[in-house]
Amino acid sequence: MMDCFFCLPIMIGCPTKIKPDGNQAARICPRCHNAAMFSAKSRTWFELCFVPLIPMNSKHVWMCGICQLQVEMQPGWEPQIAQAGYQHPQLQGQYGSSQGTGYQPGYVQPQQK
Ligand SMILES: [Zn+2]
Repeated sequence: MMDCFFCLPIMIGCPTKIKPDGNQAARICPRCHNAAMFSAKSRTWFELCFVPLIPMNSKHVWMCGICQLQVEMQPGWEPQIAQAGYQHPQLQGQYGSSQGTGYQPGYVQPQQK
């Protein structure tokens, strides 16, 4: 008997696929405080044998690329926009000790004669 033929698992699932919108400025993640949050479209698919067949539902979410936090978009709240020049608190110490090691200031220092 070819019993093993019937043992083949039929994989059925409803995975959620995240598709970034791609046109949003980075936001500050409220959980890990990294400027790695972006808006994305979250869509759940009915999937058979890893082949997406039917889109079940979709929603817009805020997605953190570091801690994978997902927050459903809601009126009246959105993550803080990362400011230009924003530095992660854990990185500031590294920049502070890099003077004279290749860091170029934004102005030209007049040469002494
Ligand atoms: Zn995060």
